[in-house]
Amino acid sequence: MAETVLIPAEGYVLQKVRIKRLSSKNIIVSDHGPWCVLDDEQWDRVLNNALLPSEPLFADLEKKGIILTENNLRMVTSQYKERYSHLFIGPSLHILVITKRCNHKCVYCHMSAARGDMAEFDMGKETARKTVDFIFKSPTPTLHIEFQGGESLMNFDVIKEVVLYAEKVNETKKRTLEFSLVSNLSLMDEEKLMFLLDHHVHICTSLDGTEEIHNHNRRSELRGFNSFATTKRWIDRIRAEYQKLGSDRDVSALITINRNAIDKAKEVIDAYRECGFSMIHLRSLNNLGFASRSWHKIGYSAEEFIRFWQEGIEYIIGLNKKGEFFRERTAIIMLQKMLTTINPNYVDLSSPCGACVSVLTYDYNGKIYSCDEGRMVGDDTFCLGEIQDEFKDLMGSKKACAIVTSSINDLSFCDECAWKPYCGLCPVHTYQQSNSLVPLNIQDDRCKILMAQFDFLMEKLVTDDAFAVLARRWVSAGLPKELRGCREIFI
Ligand code: SF4
Ligand code: SF4
Repeated sequence: MAETVLIPAEGYVLQKVRIKRLSSKNIIVSDHGPWCVLDDEQWDRVLNNALLPSEPLFADLEKKGIILTENNLRMVTSQYKERYSHLFIGPSLHILVITKRCNHKCVYCHMSAARGDMAEFDMGKETARKTVDFIFKSPTPTLHIEFQGGESLMNFDVIKEVVLYAEKVNETKKRTLEFSLVSNLSLMDEEKLMFLLDHHVHICTSLDGTEEIHNHNRRSELRGFNSFATTKRWIDRIRAEYQKLGSDRDVSALITINRNAIDKAKEVIDAYRECGFSMIHLRSLNNLGFASRSWHKIGYSAEEFIRFWQEGIEYIIGLNKKGEFFRERTAIIMLQKMLTTINPNYVDLSSPCGACVSVLTYDYNGKIYSCDEGRMVGDDTFCLGEIQDEFKDLMGSKKACAIVTSSINDLSFCDECAWKPYCGLCPVHTYQQSNSLVPLNIQDDRCKILMAQFDFLMEKLVTDDAFAVLARRWVSAGLPKELRGCREIFI
């Protein structure tokens, strides 16, 4: 039964909060997100229920919902609801592994791709249509279908089949239907591009930084093939078409950082700038698939990645100070959680995470997994069933419940962490580390990286006024148009 909060008529109840000591300041973070900085004397008075309604501090903490009063209960409840809004929608991201084949042999490949000539690893047209039928059983108003591989363009006919069939089904279902394609672009041609543009398929590629780093990591099956030059040429070509269409879209690019880039933060950021991007996502390498076999050659420690990321963010801040608007995606997601009431709905950093809740992945053979990484662990721990199963049986299955539960950060070590409201566990990572869905290893590398990133950003927010202004600009630029510039969403 829900606990009733009894609030004294003229007083307050302290919200569930956690404390972090940074730069000799007490950062008080409430369970629903808003935070404040208090000195020891203020914190002592808040704790001892000694704040008076006439004090400015009372009004400030009431506005943030850090203390609960009769006046703010409704607002705090709706902010809680927004923070967990991903729980009330259903899976909207549907990732189709259109083929397991790939014409590249990347050193860190997460999904153990099959050779380019092994057509038995392609999704067939019938499986594709049944997958679309299954996807439409998800109750969400928006359905986003993402084509993944291997190299997805190796099975372009089935991509076409899915797009055309989904559009036909949607004539009666009337959902908001979106498509995206993840590809190394090496097999792109004008005909494929025109189809993708005509059907509003968003294009996302991989770009690992400089030509040297990219070509070292992303090797083609064809000897002498320049993967970087091909990707760059198609990025420019696609952009030219967007421009012709008057679209404000851009190609997206994903970077994977391995050991040969871990001391080259500036170089990879400059490479993105030179390719015309104004954002980069500095993500650490997952110890999955081929990457785990060659981890001793391509991996690095949490400390090395933290140094890399912080150096990158400092460099990006410097670029912004010189007048260039350039952003980093992890920082934006974290800052959005720290500074606004709007849920960025980022599947890898929520509690519960997006696995089963917001995303499902369909393998080439009709098996359904909880998320993209769930298919890469080397066994069927994250396999929920198959496309012929009933949607509601699969979503309500014991396995789906176990996966969702294992991503909730209510464990003792997270429950004491100030960043708990902004963070979440990754069951795939947990499974890779401990062969179990129950996290046993307190403060593993993932946690170390996240904690250092949250610490770094919060320390900057509370000690550097210019950064606090810039952080709001970064977050604002990523919000839906109608919310940009809206001051009320900042807490
Ligand atoms: S299980 Fe891990 S990789 Fe999969 S959605 Fe959750 S956080 Fe992301
Ligand atoms: S995973 Fe680490 S950083 Fe995240 S809430 Fe748990 S203890 Fe904090």
